Amino acid sequence: MKKKISYNYNKIEAKWQQRWLKDKIYSPDFLVSNNKFYNLYMFPYPSAEGLHAGHAFSSTGSDVFGRFMRMKGKKVFQPMGYDSFGIHPENYAIKTGEQPQTMLSRTIPHFTEQFKSLGHGYDWSKSLTTSDLNYYKWTQWLFVEMFKAGLAYRKKMEVNFCPSCKTVLADEQVMTPAQAGKDPKKIDGSPVENPEETKVCERCGTVVEKRDLEQWLFRITDYADRLLKGLSKINWPEKIKTAQKNWIGKKEGINITYSIKKANKTITVWTSRPDTNFGATFIVVAPEYVQKNLVRLISSDRSKKVEEYIKSSLNRSKDDRMSEGREKTGVFTGLFAINQLNGNKMPIWVSDFVLMDVGTGAVVGVPGHDKRDFAFAKKFDLPVVRVVMGSDHDKSDITRISQVQEEEGIMVNSEFLNGLDIHKATQKMMGYLEQRGWGKRVTSYHLRDWLISRQRYWGPPIPMIYCESCAKSKRSYFTEMTSLPAEATVEVDRSNDWDHFGWYPEENLPVELPEIEDYKPEGKGRGPLANHPEFYKVVCPKCKEAARRETDVSDTFLDSSWYFLRYPSVGVSRLPWDVEITRKWLPTDLYFGGAEHAVLHLMYARFVTMVLHDLKYLEFEEPFPKLYAHGLLIKDGSKMSKSRGNVINPDLYIEKFGADALRLYLMFLGPMDATSDFRDTGIEGMKRFVDRLMNTFTLKTTNRDSSEVISKLHKTVKKVTEDLAEFRYNTSIAATMELVNIIREKGSISKLAKEILVKLIAPFAPHLAEEVWVNVLGNSYSIHTSRWPKHDKNAIKEKTIEIVVQVNGKFRGTVVVNANDVKNKDFVIESAKNDKSVAKWLEEKEAKKIVFVPGKIINFVIF
Ligand SMILES: [Zn+2]
Ligand SMILES: [Zn+2]
Repeated sequence: MKKKISYNYNKIEAKWQQRWLKDKIYSPDFLVSNNKFYNLYMFPYPSAEGLHAGHAFSSTGSDVFGRFMRMKGKKVFQPMGYDSFGIHPENYAIKTGEQPQTMLSRTIPHFTEQFKSLGHGYDWSKSLTTSDLNYYKWTQWLFVEMFKAGLAYRKKMEVNFCPSCKTVLADEQVMTPAQAGKDPKKIDGSPVENPEETKVCERCGTVVEKRDLEQWLFRITDYADRLLKGLSKINWPEKIKTAQKNWIGKKEGINITYSIKKANKTITVWTSRPDTNFGATFIVVAPEYVQKNLVRLISSDRSKKVEEYIKSSLNRSKDDRMSEGREKTGVFTGLFAINQLNGNKMPIWVSDFVLMDVGTGAVVGVPGHDKRDFAFAKKFDLPVVRVVMGSDHDKSDITRISQVQEEEGIMVNSEFLNGLDIHKATQKMMGYLEQRGWGKRVTSYHLRDWLISRQRYWGPPIPMIYCESCAKSKRSYFTEMTSLPAEATVEVDRSNDWDHFGWYPEENLPVELPEIEDYKPEGKGRGPLANHPEFYKVVCPKCKEAARRETDVSDTFLDSSWYFLRYPSVGVSRLPWDVEITRKWLPTDLYFGGAEHAVLHLMYARFVTMVLHDLKYLEFEEPFPKLYAHGLLIKDGSKMSKSRGNVINPDLYIEKFGADALRLYLMFLGPMDATSDFRDTGIEGMKRFVDRLMNTFTLKTTNRDSSEVISKLHKTVKKVTEDLAEFRYNTSIAATMELVNIIREKGSISKLAKEILVKLIAPFAPHLAEEVWVNVLGNSYSIHTSRWPKHDKNAIKEKTIEIVVQVNGKFRGTVVVNANDVKNKDFVIESAKNDKSVAKWLEEKEAKKIVFVPGKIINFVIF
């Protein structure tokens, strides 16, 4: 019986979407946790009218994996929500001229409809929106917890300020023009002088300014080492781990202090390689260093030359001073420092390649083992001493300098260090210098504290209260704070803390964000709420005097730092998350998202989780043990943007081709972690495949498949299973296409094979698969809770055939070839020639004639 299906994609897709939702097949039981799989997708900013194709691309990638896991027997939880507070949606509301609330009440439902129309398996009963009172109440609670733990503080500081967004930005939110996707040579029409040093706003690409403002900060630096150490325990792409590692930027080194000869003064240098200090032959200081510390020591006959040099170098830019290729310049100050290790006199030079704000502004010159020092020594004819032997050096010739700055090596010419490798020598030297009081170990970090306050409207009001009366009488909530357990805290300087304020009592949370008309930022260093006394005038909860509420709101990255904790507990009202559910369902099993959040969201969420762990709220300290970073979707070879007019609206494609065709097409474009190029011609081709696929299921059903189909079927099961586990979606689809072609050549197929085929396609084309499973093959609903097929090892074993080999008509041996190669004459000839027992009869002679009976005999006639 052959029935041709008329397949109305839109109708069938909508039908199953409603049925899945009604039957809650994507809602797991949160009281059971065995075999759980928490499949998290980085939730979007609803800061546009709807999803763009990039969302469709990445969310489909996440959904395919969730569906695969569900069919593998996992209880999958896949939630979706909206990062709706903060600068991104607020800027969009300003653009559309609406209140953010009004804008979001339109865009969020549209986003949801779109996610549903893509057929994703979300548990919509657990959706969340960060600007909901029920959510941000807990974001405020988190702030209070941070404060009580001594991890939130207020400080006047120089901050990055975006004049366009009219707000401060965290260090992580400013970047070079190139990193922000801007032309590094030109911003807003005006040329950029130093693209490497220019910093722009992550959000809008405007060049940031520096301003002095009072700010709230979180002590993420207390957790620098933990954040670093934890990286070795998590399964993340190397490039993201490296980005975090570099951002934390831990450097271990030592400050060595040398005395200056004939002067009652010392000079301190920072170095990470004190092991080479027996090879130190000079000191170089920054021009600013001379001005600050050495001017009075320089003899009058030299001072003019030094002053001139300083003057000219201060006119140069940092980049210029640091640039590697530039010829080194410098002037001898006439001063000497003494290397205590060997009593050597080291001349002190001034040179502009040393910067005042790097280390101490003074460096020790070890020209034998540092390229820059070597160039300097060559230029000014300073001695070069070799103290490390790399693997490529001959010990007998230690004066030869063919290479400097070894990664590995053994110490020489260094007394008590001789024979040690450089790493052991470094540690030994640090200990030695410290013991004698000549040096002190220092660890420096690039990471700065997380700037958390924003002078904007659209965010959770920071739940703090300032009371002058309490401040005067030195009363403070701060003294009542519960502290972190001792082992969790690091010694830090807390002298900046101002302790005369209190937090809003937790039981009174939330501090509701009032609806105000004038919500646009003014850029005056305070948020729009500061214009609303009805908001900020309060009674001090401690002394009942008049007090003032904080009018800044918190950074949007605080909202997203804990949303994954809330999802399974959506609906719980007395706590941010249910203890039991959290113990069972967290941490997440897979986090699917973009690499652009490497040092922003992904770092903040790890920090917040570690703090909550230390406060005994969570049992784990890494929120995302496995992370997959998807690639970028472009259109017709270029980045999608409104100005190019090449932005894809997924709705149009779903309407025209169906969600299944769109999903298959997006996943077929290329490796999931690479850049994929969307082309209209491509999706048309995929639509033809979907039609072909659909008709494969209505082919005549046979009792038994041919051995070729059986073998291909099981090979495909094996390949798709392996590929899906590694996110190789494109090759999974390609393998399934090959299988479909072979089946269609045969013209008929068994029911079992149809069932296996439809399961293989189910993660990619969930609607088509369900329709076929239930209405064509007559199986019980739902395919998405059915079991993933297993391949039969015997079926994919290659069948082999033995062929008799004759020379001049006499039996001389046999060769065994795969069944597929039986008809391949050249291949069989080669195999026979390579057989030892046959070869000796061929005597390396060219055959005059070869008789080939496929699958049976090959006869070489050589006389
Ligand atoms: Zn901006
Ligand atoms: Zn008070």
